[in-house]
Amino acid sequence: MSESNDGNPSRRYRLMIPGPVDLTPEVLVSLSAPVQADYGSNWPDIYLDTTRLLKTIFGTSGDVFILVGSGSSGIDACIGSALKTGEKIIIGINGFFGERMKEIAESYGLEVIPIIKEWGEVLDPRDFEFALKNHQDAVMVALPHIETSTTVVNPIAEIGKIVRKYKAVFMVDAVSSLGGMPFYMDSWGIDICSSASQKCLGGPPGLSPVAIGSKGWDLIQRSFTKDHGWYLNLATWKKYSDKWMVWHPFPITMATSLVVALRTSIEQILKDGIDNRFALYRARAMRLRFGLLKIGLQLFVPDDFAAPVVTAVYGYPDTATSLMIKYIEDKYYIKIAGGLGLLKEKIMRIGHMSPMISESDIDDVVSALERYKSEHNIH
Ligand SMILES: *Cc1c(COP(=O)(O)O)cnc(C)c1O
Repeated sequence: MSESNDGNPSRRYRLMIPGPVDLTPEVLVSLSAPVQADYGSNWPDIYLDTTRLLKTIFGTSGDVFILVGSGSSGIDACIGSALKTGEKIIIGINGFFGERMKEIAESYGLEVIPIIKEWGEVLDPRDFEFALKNHQDAVMVALPHIETSTTVVNPIAEIGKIVRKYKAVFMVDAVSSLGGMPFYMDSWGIDICSSASQKCLGGPPGLSPVAIGSKGWDLIQRSFTKDHGWYLNLATWKKYSDKWMVWHPFPITMATSLVVALRTSIEQILKDGIDNRFALYRARAMRLRFGLLKIGLQLFVPDDFAAPVVTAVYGYPDTATSLMIKYIEDKYYIKIAGGLGLLKEKIMRIGHMSPMISESDIDDVVSALERYKSEHNIH
């Protein structure tokens, strides 16, 4: 029952939630550097270099912007910038974040054609083909890659192959997958995509990288008045990046310290080798799932479509998962997450999307759960 703070005395809890994640010591050091001005001399170079690195992580030759806001701001921008009130959007919904996309779309007065699966099931590409055939006027198809609320990985490449045959653009929420598992925006046929700094990209919360390909821009830059604001309109971000490129390639005060920290993390990912990171998370997942099964717990989704960066597991029978989560937090100083929405009190979600999570962290979670069982006379 060790309290590990990795040399940082103010660090009390180990974060094993699906974001935000614990930062590496190098990222923490970069966060403590003096605040930089967001224009002039060297800043545009730092910003543009960060977007260049992000392009390799997204797997795109399109444009990347770093929005100042959480992951949801990027999703809001991708949907709201591209469509106008009354237009049709097909949304894949198999959990909390698919539901959120629908909420965002409805906030812009869009007509949502939902493709629904039970929470914990995977979306079926054939349903998208069917919806696109029936709604030839759909302007966008959108869904989350990893549905973090259930840990299901949706088949983006297969759905992308289908969407490509229609005029609709393909938008993907890669908030919890980018940097944690293979992702190929261009070759998967994704036109607009957004992520967040605080999950597999290993930075602090507060930034949302957004990537846009040429089919995405064609839609965003159609000449009509959209019922959309200014800040989260990607056309605003493009205008300023073109016009103010050499000194200030964004419309607002960039969160310079957060960008510096994010860049440090991405440099580390690329230096370690991104494939090595993917393998590391996968190995942590396997170790955790093996341990959970061994102590008699049941996994929430089959391994064939379970995310490599977060694991969902049912609690013990007749036990509210919040009690188990609180126990681990109080006795082991480890934070894991519960279920969202429909899955509240039913499952626990254990994140392993940071290189800071070691084999012994995984083992500690398993032994904490085992000890909970023996202390509460669960058989
Ligand atoms: C975390 C997450 C979000 C929300 O991101 P915020 O940074 O909290 O706004 C959206 N989609 C998915 C798939 C996520 O995992």
